[in-house]
Amino acid sequence: MRTFSKPFTQQEPISEEAIARAVKVMRTGRLTRYNTLEGEDSETALLEQEFAGYLGTPYCLACASGGYALHVALKAIQLEQGAGVLCNGFTLSPVPGAIDNAGGRPVLVEIDEDLKLDMGDLERKADTSGARVLMLSHMRGHICDMDRVMDVCEARGITVIEDCAHTMGARWKGRLSGTFGKVACFSTQTYKHMNSGEGGFITTADADVMARAVIHSGSYMLYDRHLAVPGPEAFADIRLETPNYSGRMDNLRAAILRVQLEHLDESCRRWNLLYGVLEQGLREISGIRVPKRAQHEEYVGSSIQFSLEAASPDAMRAFVGACGERGVEVKWFGADEPAGFTSRFDSWRYIEDMIELPNTRRILATLCDMRIPLTFDETDCRQICAVIGEAVETVMAGAD
Ligand SMILES: *Cc1c(COP(=O)(O)O)cnc(C)c1O
Repeated sequence: MRTFSKPFTQQEPISEEAIARAVKVMRTGRLTRYNTLEGEDSETALLEQEFAGYLGTPYCLACASGGYALHVALKAIQLEQGAGVLCNGFTLSPVPGAIDNAGGRPVLVEIDEDLKLDMGDLERKADTSGARVLMLSHMRGHICDMDRVMDVCEARGITVIEDCAHTMGARWKGRLSGTFGKVACFSTQTYKHMNSGEGGFITTADADVMARAVIHSGSYMLYDRHLAVPGPEAFADIRLETPNYSGRMDNLRAAILRVQLEHLDESCRRWNLLYGVLEQGLREISGIRVPKRAQHEEYVGSSIQFSLEAASPDAMRAFVGACGERGVEVKWFGADEPAGFTSRFDSWRYIEDMIELPNTRRILATLCDMRIPLTFDETDCRQICAVIGEAVETVMAGAD
């Protein structure tokens, strides 16, 4: 029996350079972003300026988590209580959670075989639900035809918020993910493209939205200490009518992120190298389907998805078990009980008027998911494919 022994949850260590910068912050004792000396810019303010520069967007706010960013983005566009918010039926639980937290009502939209939003269903749900906001998850890095999404939404006056938790550094037709919608949200939680444990960003080119987001995040009226926000005039009318939902980023996390941002493009290149090896290896295994990537999709392969389209639920369970026994941690989106990071839409039971999503349910029933930590190399990826190939054979043999 072939086996694999490296952990799928082991990210790269924080670099010595980043550690040194964090230590420097700790020596000052000025860990909260607004604790600055005369004329000093905080690490958090500098990070925001640098991330805005990376995206080519004027405004950026760093905050406590990706889910927090999604919540505050909805509040900052002034979502009305009880309003519908369109979102992918296949996403991570913080997305419908953020919609609920902002007083909205998730309106789930079907996905297609390649794990992108189903455009026909988007148009249908947009027209029948009355929702005027789309919170679009580029789930597991699969990027829709953004020209089409923006056309559909612009024609109906729908505001787009991009959830870029898996597309930091990715592009569509050469344009960075997060620059299409009115607002974009990012996560710097450990398993995303930069790692500060927890953390997130909100970016936008809309001065009013950014001003509200900054006040919501708990700026104690110290917004003049930010470097990637609009001028004081944008805050004048809203400063006293915008609640503080306290969720700031701190200088320690910002310090380690600033160093990681310098290496982000290089990390993305390394992910794609590993993704390429896994994709090719998996495609060679009979019975496995890997989602197609669109020509204009410049994705970041920090995880990989594949389906065993002919497998029954029992065969899927046996397959995931056979991989696990051999040290390959495969997650399965079809399980009835959410496990780890996988959850299917029907486990978000707080959603009222839940609509069935037959296509999404069918697609998730045979969909597997694997992390690709940068602690793996190309040899590891080939070994993983060999293990998966053997597990497929074992399960198929057992099914006869
Ligand atoms: C991780 C993630 C988020 C939110 O990130 P947190 O920082 O963990 O709150 C949002 N959407 C998707 C698709 C994610 O994977």
